[in-house]
Amino acid sequence: MEMRQIKLNIPDTQKPRVVIIGAGFGGLNTATGLSDEKFQVVLFDKHNYHTFQPLLYQVASAGLQADSIAGPLRNLFHKRKDFHFRMLKVRAQKRKG
Ligand SMILES: Cc1cc2nc3c(=O)[nH]c(=O)nc-3n(C[C@H](O)[C@H](O)[C@H](O)COP(=O)(O)OP(=O)(O)OC[C@H]3O[C@@H](n4cnc5c(N)ncnc54)[C@H](O)[C@@H]3O)c2cc1C
Repeated sequence: MEMRQIKLNIPDTQKPRVVIIGAGFGGLNTATGLSDEKFQVVLFDKHNYHTFQPLLYQVASAGLQADSIAGPLRNLFHKRKDFHFRMLKVRAQKRKG
């Protein structure tokens, strides 16, 4: 099966590029800990929002509105100079041969 090519439109850089898959606690913590001066940070997630999972039960029990625990990822990083979010689902691909 041919690997599907997609154009991500991420600018070329001389800095190390760090690609983070998943904007959960782990991905967000990693992304916020990397400076734009030293790294280009690329974040992929299948959703364009982060969900604060520990308060999901509050939404399920009508104690909170859903938008109180889920927010757009772009808002978290809009001040970053060399941060690039792309909404996509990463799939494992076996190497040929
Ligand atoms: C209901 C609930 C309550 C919890 N309460 C607590 C608590 O009180 N205290 C506590 O310490 N922990 C709690 N946890 C656990 C805590 O939320 C998780 O340990 C933590 O979210 C894990 O972080 P993570 O970054 O590894 O993954 P996640 O937060 O799950 O993030 C994974 C991210 O990767 C993205 N993703 C997944 N697959 C793909 C793919 N193929 N391509 C692109 N993107 C992808 C997802 O969209 C998601 O944004 C709770 C969890 C739940 C579900």
